[in-house]
Amino acid sequence: MQTLDLALPDTRYPIHIGRDLLKRVDLILPHLPVPQVAIVTNTTVAPLYLATLQNALENAGIACIPVILPDGEEHKTWVSLNRIFDALLEARAERKITLIALGGGVIGDMTGFAAACYQRGANFIQIPTTLLAQVDSSVGGKTAINHPLGKNMIGAFYQPRMVLADLSLLETLPDREISAGLAEVIKYALLGDDAFFAWLEEHIDALRGREHDALLYAVRRSIEMKAEIVAEDEREQGRRALLNLGHTFGHAIEAGLGFGAWLHGEAVAAGMVLAAELSREYGWLSQQDCNRIGYLIENAGLPVHAPDLGVANWKSLMSHDKKVEQGAIRFVLLERLGRAVLKGDVDDRTLDRVLTGDRV
Ligand code: NAD
Ligand code: MG
Repeated sequence: MQTLDLALPDTRYPIHIGRDLLKRVDLILPHLPVPQVAIVTNTTVAPLYLATLQNALENAGIACIPVILPDGEEHKTWVSLNRIFDALLEARAERKITLIALGGGVIGDMTGFAAACYQRGANFIQIPTTLLAQVDSSVGGKTAINHPLGKNMIGAFYQPRMVLADLSLLETLPDREISAGLAEVIKYALLGDDAFFAWLEEHIDALRGREHDALLYAVRRSIEMKAEIVAEDEREQGRRALLNLGHTFGHAIEAGLGFGAWLHGEAVAAGMVLAAELSREYGWLSQQDCNRIGYLIENAGLPVHAPDLGVANWKSLMSHDKKVEQGAIRFVLLERLGRAVLKGDVDDRTLDRVLTGDRV
């Protein structure tokens, strides 16, 4: 097991990464102010892992309230949020209860938001069960639910007390979800660490095969990079925006095709290829760099070609992105492999060339 420490201005918390951590109640107990937890999970994860966690906690004298929600992004709503509150209030849970998120990003985001709201702030622990949740959503304290008019539009910044990233849990994850998580891993390498990018080129098959040592390194390095950026810029006033590499294009793909058609990581993957092409238009990346990025993404089992949404539609979809400031789309581009920059003044003709595939 390895432990990273995320230090923020107001708080710090440990992130444990390793195998067979679900039974390690010794890691959880120090973070429980009272011997009572609610384990929030879903109908897919509960049959796989709820009993292991619940038994381990109950054997240590901790009272558990399981809350099993329906699975799916479409259930990341106030209806599910209310089911968490119903369960807490029916059990007369006190404010010092700990909410444990046992699931992917959907469960993590909802549970965190429920913890932020319950009696103005309950204790919160993340046990992320997808690769994406381990390298991305469980770290950094963004929590949210969706609104019919926009994804993640209702939420709060709320940090967990601890994150337990158990790599053994990834064994049951569908291949497509592993690849989607790898998109975010590749993103970290591209935006900040060219040596990690080269390491990924070497180890991409091992990662897809869920080899422990490879996963341990990739998850640790990804969390380290996210933690470093979040520590510098918790509320996304500056550098945290670099984490959106590939996401401006990616969100347009998700929205343009209808949410759910492509997984988020798949859309980000094709979006990173477009961001690389746009960076090449500025003379920052070479054709060879773009090819390397394309190969790695393809070898990760991810799409390299964005769907044809039509230039006008692309631009309209991108201008609805949450990251837009005063009407200008800000792209995260690559100055070189391993170094991302924000660029706000991308001219229309260059962008059109990239969107239509009519590149120089
Ligand atoms: P998800 O939570 O929907 O999980 C994907 C699927 O895998 C689900 O069907 C889930 O039930 C299943 N699953 C989870 N763990 C499993 C396991 N160990 N074995 C088998 N199946 C398992 O999706 P996700 O990709 O983990 O998260 C996406 C969500 O995360 C989105 O809602 C997104 O907005 C959010 N997100 C938040 C942040 C943040 O900073 N808070 C960052 C990125 C993404
Ligand atoms: Mg993302």
